[in-house]
Amino acid sequence: MTSSSPALVSKAPHMGTTIFSVMSALAAEKKAVNLGQGFPDFACDSQLTDLVGQAMREGHNQYPPMPGVASLREAVAAKIEALYGRRYNANTEITVTAGATQAILAIVLAIVHPGDEVIVLEPCYDSYVPNIELAGGRVVRVPLTPGSFRPDFEQIQAAIGPRTRAILINSPHNPSGMVWTREEMHQLQDILAPTDIVLISDEVYEHMVYAPLQHWSAAHFDGLAARAFIVSSFGKTYHVTGWKVGTVAAPAAYTAELRKVHQFMVFTVNTPMQHALARYMQDPAPYLQLPAFYQRKRDLFRAGLAATHFKLLPSEGTYFQCVDISGLLVPEKNLSEADFCQWLTTDIGVAAIPLSAFYGNGFDQKVIRFCFAKTDETLHAALHKLQGL
Ligand code: PMP
Repeated sequence: MTSSSPALVSKAPHMGTTIFSVMSALAAEKKAVNLGQGFPDFACDSQLTDLVGQAMREGHNQYPPMPGVASLREAVAAKIEALYGRRYNANTEITVTAGATQAILAIVLAIVHPGDEVIVLEPCYDSYVPNIELAGGRVVRVPLTPGSFRPDFEQIQAAIGPRTRAILINSPHNPSGMVWTREEMHQLQDILAPTDIVLISDEVYEHMVYAPLQHWSAAHFDGLAARAFIVSSFGKTYHVTGWKVGTVAAPAAYTAELRKVHQFMVFTVNTPMQHALARYMQDPAPYLQLPAFYQRKRDLFRAGLAATHFKLLPSEGTYFQCVDISGLLVPEKNLSEADFCQWLTTDIGVAAIPLSAFYGNGFDQKVIRFCFAKTDETLHAALHKLQGL
């Protein structure tokens, strides 16, 4: 006899499968070059994988301390101090998380009470809104300036109300590749100064900012750092997105609240990877050389696209290049961004992500995103297919 399952009342009735999984599956099915989902298709440094093996052989295979392996927290604190000039206490202010995704959910669950408002700047990474909704918060969407994707401080100011608990920002920005300037960070600091609003600063692309620009971490600014959870991820920096190891830097009182949630969400993050990352971080060269490494790929990809009718938008940071499709000489340019990406994957053989996926209302501005964290061979193969457009 078969029993039927009692029906569930969904807590997330509008939550679908992320566009990244959908496009990666389609790219695999159609054997398309996958410039959709943001991950490198090349190996990480073998020294890093050797260090993982070494950590395992040394017996680092049981639970590490709940907030993370001490040497890794210390290495992260030292890096933040060297690069951004602020000393975080490794014991009380740095936490190792299962990537930035878990970090952001744990932060949101720790600080957002039912009915609290959280400001997000759209387009935004697709986990933010569901995270806020799961916590019972209300999402307040403020658009970044269409075309330039720069923050609009008048609109941010207008969105602030008595229930505003937090604002979530992301620089360097996924999907646009825009990087906040020092002046913009100062403007945010001024707006938040008279409020109790907490800043969640998603800085996972901190090491991918292209000359002459530089990354302005919230850690640089006294008034921001005092109210900020700063989120980072090793996945982007060391070409190991599958490892899912990230960190959060925040004042001790904030960190204490984050850790209450973190301990019952995952308790800890895998031990050997943490030991390997702590040792690998002793040499700053890999992250200091990352901008030059990716700038060359960005320029190669942009030079290839210059021969097409895609209109290139700026890519100041991250490993994303956005293009406007409205000038193409194909009838398909009139499709929605999402349908265009389906067509591009299926008929042309290159996967990309529609920007509409990063907006709650599916705002369609005829812009799509490519990821250039790929081998030169992959980029050339993609450009060869795109060149006819
Ligand atoms: N934030 C942004 C802006 C991202 O692009 C990503 C990954 N694509 C994440 C967070 C999640 O990072 P992780 O893989 O470390 O969970």
